Amino acid sequence: MRAVKIKRENLSGFLKAIEPFGELWGPVKKGDQFSLDKISDYSEIDLTALRTKIPFKKLLLPPKFSMFSFDEKGYKPNIEDIPNRVIFGLHPCDIHGLNIMDAFHNQQYPDAFYNARRSKIAVIGLSCTPDELCFCKTTNTHYAEKGFDLFFTDLGDIFVIWVGSSLGDDMVRECPELIDENVTPEDLKKYIEWRRKRESKFKSDMDFTGMPSIMELSWDASIWEELGEKCLSCGACTIVCPTCPCFNVFDEVELNEDKGERYRQWDSCLFKEYSMVAGGHNFRESRAQRLKLRFTHKLQAFVGAFGEPACVGCGRCVDTCPVDIDIKSVGLRLIGEEVMA
Ligand code: SF4
Ligand code: SF4
Repeated sequence: MRAVKIKRENLSGFLKAIEPFGELWGPVKKGDQFSLDKISDYSEIDLTALRTKIPFKKLLLPPKFSMFSFDEKGYKPNIEDIPNRVIFGLHPCDIHGLNIMDAFHNQQYPDAFYNARRSKIAVIGLSCTPDELCFCKTTNTHYAEKGFDLFFTDLGDIFVIWVGSSLGDDMVRECPELIDENVTPEDLKKYIEWRRKRESKFKSDMDFTGMPSIMELSWDASIWEELGEKCLSCGACTIVCPTCPCFNVFDEVELNEDKGERYRQWDSCLFKEYSMVAGGHNFRESRAQRLKLRFTHKLQAFVGAFGEPACVGCGRCVDTCPVDIDIKSVGLRLIGEEVMA
């Protein structure tokens, strides 16, 4: 992969130069949280941001959107007028999350609504320093090798820029006066030192590799009933998760005019109504059953279908669940480690 570099003071000049590639989105500090926002002033971007509260998925599949309009003559998909966007500042875990979402939405029946937005998005990744909630090293998602157009590694006075696609190459060629093609042995030394320091900051060393078989053997474990007693069914863990794609579909009809719209809206497997079918039967009536579904999907079923867990160790669910039920604490409980509850 080609690498070039840029001086730190030239970052805003670079972001300005790539304006023709689409509207810029990046992490902005809001109170004590970070939000992925549309950027109008480059100084709003917080280069120290870790996880944004709601991940990038909101730009690929908005929380609620109209799929198509219909009337008595037919229907018209609403996938036009999607703007080009450049997302700046995705960290390796989220880039892995994006790769998972790409794979998930392009199985036997590719998702036209996902792909329409995805094809308009350019990704500029950014290196990060883990905090105590990150466990991406555990899920082997702490470096990104694919799934970005450019990736910036922050080495202090310079960023090394990894060029991951022809679109990324076009971006760096947009402003040759700001880009230095000459990555020196001195830069390499700094890069190796940066990796060494970053590695030393990861605290969690939980082993996720045995999870599919441990989940299989834990089907009747008492932990599910115990956690079900605590879970509030609020769905916050799925809303913040970059790899949770579940949705509901419903129509809004204008009764007097024979027309309407079909909407798609985020849903959560933790909601009671999620598994309710016609006639009112619910095949996951209890919170324990719904929690087991979520963790089975993340740690076992997804591995069977895609070869890796549907968790990238971003720490969002750890940060969000009001009663401390998250993938890390559940994983640790399943392998018999003591966890603060
Ligand atoms: S399960 Fe939790 S830690 Fe894993 S990707 Fe989802 S929000 Fe992040
Ligand atoms: S596990 Fe936590 S965040 Fe998820 S639904 Fe239950 S209480 Fe809410």
